Amino acid sequence: MSHSVVDLIGVTKVFGAETALADITLSIKDGEFLTLLGPSGCGKTTALRIIAGFEPCDQGEIRIDGRPMAGIPPESRPVNTVFQSYALFPHMNVFENVAYGLRIAGAGKTEIERKVADALKLVRLTDMSDRMPARLSGGQQQRVAIARAIVNNPRVLLLDEPLSALDHRLRKQMQKELKELQRTLGITFVLVTHDQEEAFTMSDRVVVMNHGRIEQAGTPREIYEEPANLYVARFVGDINVLDGVIAEAGSGGYRATVEGVTVFLKTARPFAVGESVHVMLRPEDFRVEVMRDLQDYPELAEKFSKVLLTGTVDRTFYKGATYDVEISLDDGKHILASQFFDEDAETLYFHPGDRVAVGWFEGWEVVLPHEG
Ligand code: ATP
Repeated sequence: MSHSVVDLIGVTKVFGAETALADITLSIKDGEFLTLLGPSGCGKTTALRIIAGFEPCDQGEIRIDGRPMAGIPPESRPVNTVFQSYALFPHMNVFENVAYGLRIAGAGKTEIERKVADALKLVRLTDMSDRMPARLSGGQQQRVAIARAIVNNPRVLLLDEPLSALDHRLRKQMQKELKELQRTLGITFVLVTHDQEEAFTMSDRVVVMNHGRIEQAGTPREIYEEPANLYVARFVGDINVLDGVIAEAGSGGYRATVEGVTVFLKTARPFAVGESVHVMLRPEDFRVEVMRDLQDYPELAEKFSKVLLTGTVDRTFYKGATYDVEISLDDGKHILASQFFDEDAETLYFHPGDRVAVGWFEGWEVVLPHEG
């Protein structure tokens, strides 16, 4: 990965009273798998359509390989799009669907045969080249759409929610296949989805969008572990937001009161004494112990000398590998803790009404300024 393939520079798009994109600047790197992630209406499809050339922008510009794209129609851009609806030609078999673009471009018979065969092999449809689209499963139709988009070796492949019509299992499988295909081809992929798990599974970099703006761009791990703000934190997975007040600056962090309890918060962000903060913890960051056990077993009490918060179990949910525990803290705040089953099973058995102590792995908290 080196230079950028696609540059969006100050791109703004307005539909009537609706600002679909508000001054978006983003560089998409060569060979990158980048995902635009956000809720319905945040502007992701509009961004894709502007890159593809289906839509002009009102302000700003798109460059591909450094070349301004203003006035260049979709078919003349080194970009192909895979749509959610597949958009296969129903009256053409698989081979002809994939060959279509090459024929239009005036490619010769042998070149077409070779390229289509290569593309079909990549999506594992070699045996289906005579089939009509109506006789293919959803996943197979999607593979044809992908083969058709990669057959003329575009610089960039744009994918607009390409897996949303597939059932859960097939979707998972296609996610892996798409990622694999992208690695094999080395083509830059730009995917649009509202599904966080899908974005994380496939992408090198995720761009979280909200109301036509970019909230954060980063690796899946950065987005999950270091969300830039409350919006991003809440959009990607479950998160507990605790309220705190900074009491005193220390080395590598601050002493603070969080939900009425004094704790040390590790953070590199600057905060003022007296400032209100959000302290965010994923359910899996919490460790929960039943207080009855703490009294019964002195070694557990010892282990939990750093007990932070106390509360009462409301409900539990069996999740397979983990166990979700809903807890009301003593100050009334509700939290969700996810616990793994381990050999210490007895201490991980929670029942509604159990009094519990809740701690977390020091430093796993994300501390952000209080919003609103
Ligand atoms: P979805 O996941 O639902 O497709 P999205 O994040 O892709 O959503 P866009 O389709 O980019 O969002 O739409 C962004 C905003 O622009 C929305 O408020 C939408 O209603 C509006 N919009 C998009 N296209 C048009 C159009 N052709 N005419 C008018 N408004 C539009």
